[in-house]
Amino acid sequence: FFSAATEYEILRGIAEGSSGQVFLCKNMLDQHEYALKKIFIEEDDDDEKILEEARIMASLDHPHIVRYYQVWRGDNSYNFEKFAGEFDSSSDDSSGKRDPSRSCIYILMEYCPKTLETVFREGISEEIALTYFRQIVEGLDYIHSQGLIHRDICSQNLFLDSEKQIKIGDFGLAKFMEVKDGEFGVQSSNDYGHHFYKSPEAMRNSWITQKSDVYSLGVLLFGLLYPSKTEARRIEKLRELQKTLSLPEDWKYPDLTSLIRVLMSKDPSVRPSTADILAREQLWATADVVQVPQLKEEN
Ligand code: ATP
Ligand code: MG
Ligand code: MG
Repeated sequence: FFSAATEYEILRGIAEGSSGQVFLCKNMLDQHEYALKKIFIEEDDDDEKILEEARIMASLDHPHIVRYYQVWRGDNSYNFEKFAGEFDSSSDDSSGKRDPSRSCIYILMEYCPKTLETVFREGISEEIALTYFRQIVEGLDYIHSQGLIHRDICSQNLFLDSEKQIKIGDFGLAKFMEVKDGEFGVQSSNDYGHHFYKSPEAMRNSWITQKSDVYSLGVLLFGLLYPSKTEARRIEKLRELQKTLSLPEDWKYPDLTSLIRVLMSKDPSVRPSTADILAREQLWATADVVQVPQLKEEN
């Protein structure tokens, strides 16, 4: 028995998500940097539900999935006060986030310096956008091959590692499928999930299949290729696309219009599977030869 927590130094807070906080930390023995996700255990929750996120991550092994290293239980006293000020919610503790006795689960994983959300804001070339998109589809195809639905594919949960390779993360909502009426899927419930990316059937809290993740891929592809100067404009155009499947007047990629429309089709059975998307070879032909350029560190 040993306490993993004593082996790490926390360098800074990275972000606060809906389920917890993510820190950049350093292993004092191997001297490498890692991301540490601290998840608060709700009072009436059993921690099995939270451990499921770690168990799923531990079972996955793919170049486009965030690498998992360790999980452990701990309390909330762990170096927290020192970093509390780095989060917006530091003045208000109505949710008990600063209660030092609160139980937490810690998930140690690969540190990814950037999210795709930052890339959206910077804007990228069509070739790089398609290279990223293909890597996302490859990662999701692997997730789907393991019988899972990710349920939270969005720009904040997709990362670039230090080699500028796409990594899919945040398996907090991922679920293994069940069978109902001969179809594999899960019953969608009212848990978070980013609403811009949510499929119409997930919005209705009905039965969803892996095609629900494919809808989110359509929203992502649009975001990758429509780097609008303002977030408000991107959202406005996305809303139109979701409602009427019409692309903005200044949309520059007519060749990709039909792909986006079919990915975001309201009828899940019309959407292609990840394997179908990967089989559309001609779409990726140009992206293959393009080098991904240097990216700045996100601070
Ligand atoms: P939510 O459910 O609100 O999306 P969450 O609590 O499930 O959030 P994550 O999405 O896993 O938590 O992480 C929250 C944020 O922390 C991410 O959007 C990202 O900014 C940062 N983050 C998470 N994992 C990593 C990582 N491996 N490397 C670097 N940053 C990370
Ligand atoms: Mg997240
Ligand atoms: Mg999450």
